[in-house]
Amino acid sequence: MTDGSPAQRPDRAALARLLAPVRTRIRIAVVAQVAAALAAVVPFVAVAELGRLLLGGGAAAGAWPIVWVALGALAARFVLFFLAGGLTHLADADLQLDLRRRMATRLGQVPLGWFGARNSGTVKKALQDDVTAMHHLVAHSLLDLTAGIVTPVAALAYLVWVDWRMTLVTLLPVAAGLYFYARSMAGYGENMVAYDQALGRINGSAVEFVNGIAVVKTFGQSRKAHQRFTSAADDFATFFLDWVGGVTRISAIGQILLSPVVVLLVVLTGGTVFVTNGWLAPADVLPFALLGLGITAPITTLAQTSQQLRSARLAAAQVAAVLGTEPLPAPEAEAADPADGRVSLRNVHFGYTADTPVLRGIDLELAPGTVTALVGPSGGGKSTLAKLLPRFFDVTDGSVSIGGVDIRDLSAEQLYRRVSFVLQDVQLLRATVADNIRLAVPEADQSTVEAAARAAQIHQRILELPRGYDSVIGEDARFSGGEAQRVSIARALLADAPILVLDEATAFADPESESAIQQALSTLVAGRTLLVIAHRLSTVAEADQIAVLADGRVAELGTHLELLARQGLYARMWAAHERAGAWQPHTSPLETR
Ligand code: ADP
Repeated sequence: MTDGSPAQRPDRAALARLLAPVRTRIRIAVVAQVAAALAAVVPFVAVAELGRLLLGGGAAAGAWPIVWVALGALAARFVLFFLAGGLTHLADADLQLDLRRRMATRLGQVPLGWFGARNSGTVKKALQDDVTAMHHLVAHSLLDLTAGIVTPVAALAYLVWVDWRMTLVTLLPVAAGLYFYARSMAGYGENMVAYDQALGRINGSAVEFVNGIAVVKTFGQSRKAHQRFTSAADDFATFFLDWVGGVTRISAIGQILLSPVVVLLVVLTGGTVFVTNGWLAPADVLPFALLGLGITAPITTLAQTSQQLRSARLAAAQVAAVLGTEPLPAPEAEAADPADGRVSLRNVHFGYTADTPVLRGIDLELAPGTVTALVGPSGGGKSTLAKLLPRFFDVTDGSVSIGGVDIRDLSAEQLYRRVSFVLQDVQLLRATVADNIRLAVPEADQSTVEAAARAAQIHQRILELPRGYDSVIGEDARFSGGEAQRVSIARALLADAPILVLDEATAFADPESESAIQQALSTLVAGRTLLVIAHRLSTVAEADQIAVLADGRVAELGTHLELLARQGLYARMWAAHERAGAWQPHTSPLETR
């Protein structure tokens, strides 16, 4: 995966692969554009030739064929131009559809955990912005590039044919302009990286400043946080002014040299010298005055186009990265249904990356209908372990099975009929509240949905929304963290899966929500096999078994009393908390995140 690195080669390869389905049409379009660009030069050549013919005292009758050729070329140019543009736009429409479909399919197959690791912004950017960046490339940039090269080359060829010495004179301002332009672009790559970093620092400190404003003010640190922001902004301004100040002077010189006035001045001065010395007929200056301007005009377009090409390559790499994500392997045939709801983790190993193992040989049995509490120091792997059961990720070694069947052999439908989860980062879809609740059971009727909402202590709150259950999340339904959690509990209640994975944290809940959530949870967990990241005294003390996770291993396993008697890690943590006072859900000694 290139992830936007400046490495050009893989980006280029990625782009070529993505464009493969529309390659033929793009090639035809480019050929049409070459012809259109040549045809575009013809009328200018015709005018120059007319001038040379008539001013040089040629027969007026010879002028007509030239006029007809010019008119024909003009017509051909428009036809070819529209043909090329039409072809690339059609190719682009097909390509966008194809890419978006392939990405949507792939996103449906990647592990659930993948979405947590990358924020949804990256996915949206790949789906929307990056595909659009490729639109510029396919529909416009390639054709602009073609015209930008063919037109000046054709004009130059004609001018060389008229007089090569005068052509060199015409090229003087172009060469000088290009030299300054190249100088202004020197170090562009490194400066762009520094630019992004400086901007990133500003964004970071702005977010810190705004997000933490309450804390910062409470502790009288507003000056400090404010200073971080202003100094980041000052650094950025200094860097940007240094860079842009230098570049602007140089590129301004380049632009002046390439401007029509300067080119015309050079051509006419050179022409006068050539004519007075008898090196050139007066009428032969005309082609240079006419077509010399046509050589400089595309140069600025070329600069823009190469920039678009660069961003299209980066965009292609991002899209290719999404398309190249390993899908969660689906079983070839649906496995036999598990015999019962017993969950077994055997020698489970897992790491987010190959070189940093997070779980290192976990063995754990969850008997049907029992509660297993996961406790242990922060970073010990509790959340990671909990996410393996609903297959957010697959184990790297060992196995997780339900009723004797490896969960990798179950179809998604078979798995999610048995396992549901209520985790900290609640995901609600931009759909009606009712549809969000009946996500796992789309055919559930209104009264069933309402019963689940009632049991989850959220029914009243939903009725207060403008359109009740038909309010749409994010439009006329906005929930606090605790309320969203209760909606997700209602969803899990309706799904009615026998196995439930639960993160008990109520970090986002307001005090009012908290008791409602606890009430909703007690309804939800009743009678299910429960794997819970425990934050509450009652859950831990009453669990059928407590697994103390430390360093990716089960350090201790047993009931509350058994573990206390062992005088080990759990007992020490417990003693520490006893000394500290009441077991607070947010400041639990066993879970200090
Ligand atoms: P706990 O829930 O016990 O606090 P976690 O399972 O959240 O522990 O984390 C265990 C380890 O895995 C930590 O070192 C953490 O940094 C790492 N980790 C957690 N989530 C991710 C992720 N999405 N990508 C990479 N590393 C992660």
